[in-house]
Amino acid sequence: MKVPLTRPWTDAREHELVGAVIDSGWLTQGPRVTEFEHAIARRVGAGHAVAFTSCTTALHVALLLHGIGPGDEVVVPSYTWIATANVVRMVGATPVFADIDLATFNVTAATIEPRLSSRTRALMPVHQFGMPADMHPIMTLGRERGLTVIEDAACAIGSAYRSQPIGGLGNTTCFSFHPRKVLTTGEGGMLVTDDAELAARARVLINHGASVSDLHKHQAGTVEALLAEEFGEVGYNYRLTNLQAALGLAQLERLDDGLALRIARARRYNDCFAGHRWITPPTEPSYAQSNWQSYAVRISQESPVPRNRVTQRLLDAGVACRPAYMACHLQPVYRDSISINLPNTEAALAEVLILPLYSQMTDEEQDYVVATLNGAFA
Ligand SMILES: *Cc1c(COP(=O)(O)O)cnc(C)c1O
Repeated sequence: MKVPLTRPWTDAREHELVGAVIDSGWLTQGPRVTEFEHAIARRVGAGHAVAFTSCTTALHVALLLHGIGPGDEVVVPSYTWIATANVVRMVGATPVFADIDLATFNVTAATIEPRLSSRTRALMPVHQFGMPADMHPIMTLGRERGLTVIEDAACAIGSAYRSQPIGGLGNTTCFSFHPRKVLTTGEGGMLVTDDAELAARARVLINHGASVSDLHKHQAGTVEALLAEEFGEVGYNYRLTNLQAALGLAQLERLDDGLALRIARARRYNDCFAGHRWITPPTEPSYAQSNWQSYAVRISQESPVPRNRVTQRLLDAGVACRPAYMACHLQPVYRDSISINLPNTEAALAEVLILPLYSQMTDEEQDYVVATLNGAFA
């Protein structure tokens, strides 16, 4: 048997909606994108949503919108995808790495606080593996210190914090629709905020700095609208396409069904690993509802069969899995930060093993993963 780490969940509906866009002749940003933006804003309870080519480009623009630049520091976890730190560098600011809580793999107000300085301008918590960070204390810390909070919610579409969907807590929140996440458009992202002015400026920055969108020009149908276009600042081409938005709309229709299946799979794993001597299954704090973008267990460093050997045995048996994830501060590009002490981040690097989990996973596939993992300790 071969079990993949993940697999996008699609059927005839995706073909239907993407096919309709192809037939319409309007492939790039257009009405489907606007529809997708409105649907995501509604789903996450945010005032405004702006579609992007990726979460990385959305985070880049989020930092620009909040005026973060050279001389500023942004506190981020080290235990995250490299993009969280890279976007801070992209605007000329400095990422400052905070440690995580091992129970959630997320930064907390307590791990962020010692990393604050007079140059800190923003906090960028990550909802790692779809598990919400403990946001209320982080928002309070941000308010007390006058800091912007930008959520890297790349993994967290459909997750909730104290029954509130992720997307309405921070000043600005960015999602990813990469196929490794729960809802996919191939590549894609979304910036959400309650601030209408920020959203309007985001629309300018994703479209080369143009004051008027293509959609508006198309719909207005007047020479005045066509001539009104102005370029007041340097912008980017970070536009999602109609093709991708159609895929996203179909994916959004099945999001709740997909979440229910993922939650059931995660619970089933938890039951299988409860009380295991060497495996610590993930825990969901009372404030959190995860979308289970990833299911990450910890393999004890005391285990007679070390994590890496367990991983190899799973790979050899056809079970796709990933050890460790990554720590930005240990990557050559951030070597300036290599000497900082982040003990929980390093423990996560040594212990984490990400197991297969996806909506269409069968009992047989999951049983095979569990049996292979249990057998790997023999
Ligand atoms: C996937 C991911 C990103 C990058 O998302 P893209 O859409 O691929 O740019 C950023 N941050 C985290 C935490 C991620 O998991």
